[in-house]
Amino acid sequence: MIAFDNSFARLPERFYTRLDPTPVATAETIVVNDALATALGLDRDWLNGPQAVQVFAGNAVPDGAEPLAQLYGGHQFGSWSGQLGDGRAILLGEVRAEDGALRDIQLKGAGRTPYSRGGDGRAWLGPVLREYLVSEAMHAMGVPTTRALAAVTTGEQVARETLLPGAILTRVARSHIRVGTFQIHTARQDVEALRTLTDYTIARHWPDADGPAGLLDAVVAAQAELIAQWMGLGFIHGVMNTDNCSLAGETIDYGPCAFLDTYDPQKVFSSIDRMGRYAYANQPGIAIWNLAQLATALIPLMPDEEAAVADFTTRINRFADLYQAAWVRVFGAKLGLADPTLEDADLIQRLLTLMAGEALDFTATFTRLGMGEMPPALSAWAAEWQRRRAGDWTDRMARANPTVIPRNHRVEAVIAAATRGDFAPFHEMLKIATRPFDPLDETRAPYALPPEPTEVVRQTFCGT
Ligand code: AMP
Ligand code: MG
Repeated sequence: MIAFDNSFARLPERFYTRLDPTPVATAETIVVNDALATALGLDRDWLNGPQAVQVFAGNAVPDGAEPLAQLYGGHQFGSWSGQLGDGRAILLGEVRAEDGALRDIQLKGAGRTPYSRGGDGRAWLGPVLREYLVSEAMHAMGVPTTRALAAVTTGEQVARETLLPGAILTRVARSHIRVGTFQIHTARQDVEALRTLTDYTIARHWPDADGPAGLLDAVVAAQAELIAQWMGLGFIHGVMNTDNCSLAGETIDYGPCAFLDTYDPQKVFSSIDRMGRYAYANQPGIAIWNLAQLATALIPLMPDEEAAVADFTTRINRFADLYQAAWVRVFGAKLGLADPTLEDADLIQRLLTLMAGEALDFTATFTRLGMGEMPPALSAWAAEWQRRRAGDWTDRMARANPTVIPRNHRVEAVIAAATRGDFAPFHEMLKIATRPFDPLDETRAPYALPPEPTEVVRQTFCGT
């Protein structure tokens, strides 16, 4: 059925608490990701049989699973929160995917754990469908991300501002090791745990890395690449706390995330981000801040603290160059440049400045440019762009610019319909958003439209 190989559960017990998911009233499948299931080697008959939905709902623990809630800590909005941990998620175990690497299979919304603090351990339908849609769209757009294997309703209500339908997401990740997974052991002065976790993370994700410094280098490079990709899609994560920063370099913990409609670098959607800490343009700087917290957490492993601080600072400072190179590559491709170099940064930046000044739609502007349509405000800039681009620039642009991203007002409409019991809009949008680079046709075109003034989503809420 599921061939588990649970490496995390083989670590000492101070990294987690073993416990089963809490069963729910009536589990019903919303969606199962067949392609991902195949890549994970899951059995097709089992997947489509009656047992799978019980597993995805937490009502049955499959053979070979070793359910546990992971311990971690973290900085939230820049302040140390101490111990956090999986308060509403349970790791069933790991399976080896067709690429040879392990994947976590985790139920999100599976009931209370010792790390729930005041929470109910549950999720409601809205954030589950949002994460399903957005994470699968991100994957289809080539961005490293956790993925969605299944979503089920629980037949139970969840109390938020009102009573809402409960749901559970089955999430798949290269791992759920976060910066905060390291920080908690440093805070507890548990150097042995830090060493074990460092060795485990290197072996699992970065086997070429040499010790803590090599691990830091690898994560710096992966995060620089990841954030550049977010920026190229107008993606705002919304809660870049250190507990939401993955050592595997995947986008993780889709909460109040959103894509830009109108290009505004200072844009913030999240209702809880009152200071704008996680605004679009701040994301690279925040990634550096998070990496500095990882470096700080690793210091107790080093023989000479002063030398390690100096050395780790140098390694973190490399983020700037790595990010700039990735950003030029990402945006150069979006402009159809065959071989973008740092010298193109100015051309790209001037376009973005014009887009901000004219309040142009981020995604639609690149789609239009790729189809040879020129927004009037860009015509002077375009003269220089035309000199720079060459060869098959339209093909390159079509491969680099999604025609459809999961726009916020569309996601909200999908959630509203599903809350009323109508899942058809979810299924249609999922189909469209997971083929992001297809040309626009009659079905896709409405999804490409920016929101009407009355449809604009101004605020998004955390996935609790
Ligand atoms: P997040 O903001 O989703 O990254 O979550 C931050 C912390 O709050 C994590 O430790 C979560 O496990 C916990 N948490 C969030 N929602 C709930 C909930 N409904 N029940 C219990 N814990 C929760
Ligand atoms: Mg989180």
